[in-house]
Amino acid sequence: MTTQELRSPGAPRTDSLAHNYHPLPVTVATAEGAWVTDVAGRRYLDLLAGYSALNFGHRHPALVDAATRQLGRVTLTSRAFDHDLLHPFADALAGLVGPLTAAGGPDGRGAMVLPMNTGAEAVETAIKTARKWGYDVRGVAPGKATIVVASGNFHGRTTTIVSFSDDPDARRGFDPYTPGFRVVPYGDVDAVAAAIDDTTVAVLMEPVQGESGVVVPPDGFWPALRRLTAERDVLLVADEIQSGLGRTGTTLACELWDVRPDLVTLGKALGGGILPVSAVVGRRDVLEVLTPGTHGSTFGGNPLACAVGLAVVDLLASGEPQARARLLGERFHDRLAGLVGRGLLERARGVGLWAGLDLAPDRGTGRDLCEALLARGVLAKDTHGSTIRLAPPLTVSADDLDVGLSALEDALTWLAGAR
Ligand code: PLP
Repeated sequence: MTTQELRSPGAPRTDSLAHNYHPLPVTVATAEGAWVTDVAGRRYLDLLAGYSALNFGHRHPALVDAATRQLGRVTLTSRAFDHDLLHPFADALAGLVGPLTAAGGPDGRGAMVLPMNTGAEAVETAIKTARKWGYDVRGVAPGKATIVVASGNFHGRTTTIVSFSDDPDARRGFDPYTPGFRVVPYGDVDAVAAAIDDTTVAVLMEPVQGESGVVVPPDGFWPALRRLTAERDVLLVADEIQSGLGRTGTTLACELWDVRPDLVTLGKALGGGILPVSAVVGRRDVLEVLTPGTHGSTFGGNPLACAVGLAVVDLLASGEPQARARLLGERFHDRLAGLVGRGLLERARGVGLWAGLDLAPDRGTGRDLCEALLARGVLAKDTHGSTIRLAPPLTVSADDLDVGLSALEDALTWLAGAR
């Protein structure tokens, strides 16, 4: 099928929309759980889940209920005034995630929460916090702070964040770049050690690199990073925007290695697939360098966001989404491993309910595979070249997951025959 034949019949088209995306040719009209329906009434199994923003599926009843109730109360105050869910949300998130950070304390009381909206804003907040901590607390010379980041990183799209991307598409044409970042190979702790000097305030990395194709680092990497950053008095900042909140079978991916970062950035699933909600969570003594007027956001921590965020924390506090990701993840990775080495997939990797799949380049591009999946009623997204990423909602049923994996096998077999 061609892209044109695949396009949802009756889909509205316009020339008014900027061309910063190349979406698959499907136009969604409604969604529920792990399934979406297009404008022509065709159903698709969603194996992308909004890049993990839909960890709890589309329109999870508890999340929709929390949002609907809040719509009838108050939706925005700005941070000029407090509202009655702001502190409860901060307490709840500190309670869930604080004990998993170096803030310590079983009730999260050592932790602070700074709410923002998008993931990129949370990363920007972490960068600003780390720099200010470096100047105010560590005595780094004015204007000299550096942050060590990883090759293959993806932390968002702001001018500062793309300044330290090594993806030419994300970066080229957007200079002049923000200085103060050192890029080292992902997974190489010796390279991180060599990049740290007296100017270094933080190491900022994804525990598992999502956009890069679900790249899981060697087992010893994060524990070694934790030891190194503690020894050198440098903040360890884990960007858990895609990996966190259940995706890997744990609340934070860092738990896989029993590592407690100083700061964690959260986003995507924190908004329950309903609205953008992000946060920086971690050491109180570090976040306390921000004082009134030094940082903020009109929408960060708004009442609607806090209502949904509180409901998300409730879901995760039960441990059920994480347990499902672990349990279904085993079945998922077993079946994916069965597709490797049969001329179908070159590699499959990942953890929990999250996988990166590499096609042999002569079998086609990731886009080709995603179009073949679309034709079989499954939504997925390519990352780079011949790699695609699968991140089903953690609420997907075992049977639906099997349907998706059978469609994947069929699409791969068809691609192998088509060449
Ligand atoms: N950090 C990570 C690890 C991400 O995967 C993403 C988005 O994919 C972001 C940050 C940026 O989040 P947002 O698109 O909400 O700005």
